[in-house]
Amino acid sequence: MDAPKKSSRRGPRRKNYMKQQDGVEIDTSIVNNKPVNKNVEDITEKNYERQLQNWDDFVDSLEDLKEYVFRIGMAMRGGKLPDERLSWKGLNSYWKKFTAAYNRERGTIPKDHLTSVTRLIEPRGALGKRLNIVADKGPRRHATAEVLTWAGEFFWTLDWKIFARPRLRNDLWAALLQSVFTAARVSDYLESSSRYNSNIGLHYKDTQFIVYQNERGEPEFALQLTKFLKGRCHLPSTLPTPDIHERGKLEPQALYTNPILFLAKEIIPIQWHGSVLNSPIFCGASGRIMTAGLFSKELRSLLIRAGFPNPPGLHSFRAEGLTNIDANPNCSDIQRQTMAGHVNNHIQARHYASRNPGIDSQAAFMRTQARLMNIGELFRNLEISWEPELWHSLPIAKKEQLSMSDEYREIEAQIRAFTTTKLELPMDSPTDPEFKHEAKHEVITMSPAEVDEAPLAHPVRKLRRDLESLEKKSLNMLWEETSKGMVVGDKRTFVCRGISRPFSRLRSVMPLRRQLADLLTIPARLRSTEGKAALVALVKLCNSKTEADRPGLGATCHCSRSSSDHLHIYKCTKKQFSFAEFCFFCNQWLYDAEAWERHCHDHLTQDLIPMELSWKRVETTFLPGHCPFCLWDTGLGCAKRLQSFCSLSDWETHIRAHGVSWQERCPNLRCEGSFHDGESYQNHLHDLHRVPKKLLLPAQTSLKRGVDDVSQEELPAKKAKLGDGPVEARFVFHYCDPGETFSGKGGLA
Ligand SMILES: [Zn+2]
Ligand SMILES: [Zn+2]
Ligand SMILES: [Zn+2]
Ligand SMILES: [Zn+2]
Ligand SMILES: [Zn+2]
Repeated sequence: MDAPKKSSRRGPRRKNYMKQQDGVEIDTSIVNNKPVNKNVEDITEKNYERQLQNWDDFVDSLEDLKEYVFRIGMAMRGGKLPDERLSWKGLNSYWKKFTAAYNRERGTIPKDHLTSVTRLIEPRGALGKRLNIVADKGPRRHATAEVLTWAGEFFWTLDWKIFARPRLRNDLWAALLQSVFTAARVSDYLESSSRYNSNIGLHYKDTQFIVYQNERGEPEFALQLTKFLKGRCHLPSTLPTPDIHERGKLEPQALYTNPILFLAKEIIPIQWHGSVLNSPIFCGASGRIMTAGLFSKELRSLLIRAGFPNPPGLHSFRAEGLTNIDANPNCSDIQRQTMAGHVNNHIQARHYASRNPGIDSQAAFMRTQARLMNIGELFRNLEISWEPELWHSLPIAKKEQLSMSDEYREIEAQIRAFTTTKLELPMDSPTDPEFKHEAKHEVITMSPAEVDEAPLAHPVRKLRRDLESLEKKSLNMLWEETSKGMVVGDKRTFVCRGISRPFSRLRSVMPLRRQLADLLTIPARLRSTEGKAALVALVKLCNSKTEADRPGLGATCHCSRSSSDHLHIYKCTKKQFSFAEFCFFCNQWLYDAEAWERHCHDHLTQDLIPMELSWKRVETTFLPGHCPFCLWDTGLGCAKRLQSFCSLSDWETHIRAHGVSWQERCPNLRCEGSFHDGESYQNHLHDLHRVPKKLLLPAQTSLKRGVDDVSQEELPAKKAKLGDGPVEARFVFHYCDPGETFSGKGGLA
């Protein structure tokens, strides 16, 4: 009868943790009387600190609070045009951060003070009116399937950007396809700035890969992903896991729309190999997970290159995806909410749904059969405007106009003052080790909050950036003036303007890109010959060190020197043989004069010579210059017409020697129109054929190169090579020759 009660119960003896306290020491940094704050990310805490720091210069009264938002609001208006609107969200988010920080560290702000300030900054409030605050800047835009497919076609067949790390091209596209096809936020799979350095995002271990028999009885791959939703209410066990697949028996589409293709970068076991489990699926710099910041920046720049001057962000694609899922009667509310990471229908209705519900209300009223075509989709297409003839750098006339402005000249004078006293190297060239170092720094160790507080960049670099932003501004104005407000459609109307080396020229020095450009637009399945060839080429691209290469000018030279300098190999080979000519379009040597003449004849009659003729360095190799006057002079022999100039100075000297400053017609008869003066003639050659205006001067003038006229392109190949570092080859709105910005139009002796 004295038996302990517990032993009469069934099952193992229950633990009582309070009785197992031997050796437990109380950590007073955790166990104390302080109230516990809401748990937030480090970056949020930093933001809070900053707002509090701002506040510390004030004393607390309602007047101080009002002054605080007034000052922030006025600063946000700085540099804006009077009728430019300011979004309420921006100012309100600063205010929210401040109040959250205050509550956290100092205690509560009286409730009526809060209400007063909130009312003050509303669009209808006194300060709201003063700052021209609007509730929002227009409805959520939707980026449709047409936008995505054009972006893909452009990216793989026309893009002139060269990535310093070729794998980024693959991963950028893979990340975009996956995100768009699963209606993701940018932070669902990539590391967002608010989770800076947390490594949170999609890794191989967060995915499941299966092979299964599809509707046609064929094997097919599918991948299940995990969305890393932000916010308290999403426990790790509740994260959505959508999937991507190969579309089964449906009509095959262009290979670049197949999301599985761009994931096959490793040898694929159905169980991921242990060595890749912790690797990110989308790689950023140095093998770390791609950051949302890098992705968004690259997506924006890609879409601008593709002709969308006001490009949609990933969220516009998400909105389109969720709108279409919602319109699909086969999807339940729960399915859509899970995909979106929502807990009710409210957010969909408020933030994502198209305002045109896309239903045939006409038919509904008349009680007739509804038509199957969704007219709302057509209207949604209008939300993203497309300009197939967008200028990607300022036309020379605009550039000259800008460089006459006081603002521009003042900055130029400051740069000159600096460069003549202290510096000789161009500071903003990517070859500059200091630049590289800093870029690395930004990518790897700086949190977004720290970037703001970093010491100012070198003054000259900052000044050059100011010049660039002035150019960017007038380019934006040009875009607005020339906007035709079109919708992505007839792809044959697309021309790239203001680019010296469009993809049509780069094809010869980008063997893998050229191959992919031909393969990826083919509608085919992954297991077709084309699909497999595309896969092999993509894996090669991911593993290569550079996107650019000139296969015909190999690594070992006839003088048995191993050299990566293509100009040396070219010259050396020509010396070795009694006759040798290299075709820079076909990457092929010809050793017979007659065959060479015939070869040139073929090129000229096929009429595929690009419009852009300037000499250009491309990583370790170059695109030779051609002479507009010889090239299109049908009186000359074909070999003479196609003469290649292999260095910038050879090319410039030759064109200067022609001494042509005006002709009534462009030497290229494909160009229509006539020119009434030298100015318009030179502008045409400069803008379209990329022959700098300074080379088009009358014959008798004695010429001397200006002292500042040395552009980085003339540096030896070794130095101009971009490393495999985290520095992305970025597209800068430089004109033909960065040197001319500061030297005017060539030194006139
Ligand atoms: Zn040699
Ligand atoms: Zn050829
Ligand atoms: Zn001929
Ligand atoms: Zn010539
Ligand atoms: Zn022309």
